Amino acid sequence: MSILPPNRSEAVFVDKKPPYDASQAAVEANRCLFCYDAPCIKACPTSIDIPGFIRKIATGNVRGSAHTILESNILGQSCARVCPVEVLCVGDCVYNELGVPPIQIGKLQRYATDAAVERGWEFFTAGPDTGKRVACIGGGPASLAAAHRLRRFGHHVTVYESRAVLGGLNTTGIAPYKLEAEASAAEAARVLAIGGIDVKTNVTVGRDLSWDEVLGSHDAVFLGFGLGPDTLLADMPPGAHGAVDWIERMKLGTVDLAHVKRALVVGGGNTAIDAVRELLGLGVGRVMMVYRGTEAGMSGYAHEWSAAKVEGALAAWQTAPLGYSTADGRVNGLRAVKVDDQKKPIPGSERVIEAELVLVAIGQSKLGTLAERLGVELERGRIVAGEGGRTANPRVFAGGDCANGGKEVVNAVAEGRDAAVAIHEQLTKGGA
Ligand code: SF4
Repeated sequence: MSILPPNRSEAVFVDKKPPYDASQAAVEANRCLFCYDAPCIKACPTSIDIPGFIRKIATGNVRGSAHTILESNILGQSCARVCPVEVLCVGDCVYNELGVPPIQIGKLQRYATDAAVERGWEFFTAGPDTGKRVACIGGGPASLAAAHRLRRFGHHVTVYESRAVLGGLNTTGIAPYKLEAEASAAEAARVLAIGGIDVKTNVTVGRDLSWDEVLGSHDAVFLGFGLGPDTLLADMPPGAHGAVDWIERMKLGTVDLAHVKRALVVGGGNTAIDAVRELLGLGVGRVMMVYRGTEAGMSGYAHEWSAAKVEGALAAWQTAPLGYSTADGRVNGLRAVKVDDQKKPIPGSERVIEAELVLVAIGQSKLGTLAERLGVELERGRIVAGEGGRTANPRVFAGGDCANGGKEVVNAVAEGRDAAVAIHEQLTKGGA
């Protein structure tokens, strides 16, 4: 049973990519060329055998298709919805070079994995008990992927999560027209259904439990605790919020937009674009992105921004915030200045862009220092992790955003899975 409230703000959104039915899936699957040395596989961070799973759909073996996907990516159902396939597998499909629409790999993956969930197909069981214990810090995609693979090897796993709900950014941060919080939490529950994974929610390691206790009571530790709070512009008045924090409140609870007719989102990345589209979807009449770079230079995906523009998004390019404008103690706009191509302010171009809500999406803090006590090496706040997530401490491994600095969900899944393999090697050779 879900612990999420039913009247969440995200509930107003509808799925923007409706699923295939059986005949649509069969037609699309039969278009695949089943390429030898398929570039789509190389473009997938979890290296799913894409032509393999598509061929199984084409031959009516949907169960086998789902098994192929989940064998490589246990979060394959959510990745089918949230992966930026346009710049990964679909973007590398050979059909692009032929001027033909590429295979809709994400929609086919969704078709197979949804079928697995709807029909209750189970593919994986825990391995024979090894007597080894591993702690996974964080309950997001990296830790869930690591925990599941570790259980398949037979190790006992404990997942420590600060929030009340599992799934990490998949639950708290994905745009709801791609994946709702409840669907992510349900997927996490299915990962745990393998059994033998203890979950400690509402527990922050380093505060409620010391790092020494965690290291002392486990044979190995996987760090997958993601990123920290939003980077903010100084002195946030009421009406100004970090975008990641606001999105989490919108997804897990409610946000009040009754007084908001105009909103601004500062930043030019994917979180900024998501926030713009979410505000438009929640009925805010005028939503503008404020970005100090150019449209061509924004770090957010071009296909996402194109979709935002179709939905009515506005933008102030080459515009840098100077601070907030307030009235009666609340935000009523953003003081901003135009900047040139070197991002230098253009004198005399200062203005106030009026808005009742300002979201700041200029990045998140890195949390690597939290785990400094474990003897890991840090680089600008992220944990330095090599192949298999190995860190400077042979008993500590890391993956996902806390190690890669912030990539896609599918990268976190791959890194968690691969770290589990490295941990298993370490534990079974007696090195830990
Ligand atoms: Fe099929 Fe495209 Fe992958 Fe080739 S590159 S196997 S056509 S999805």
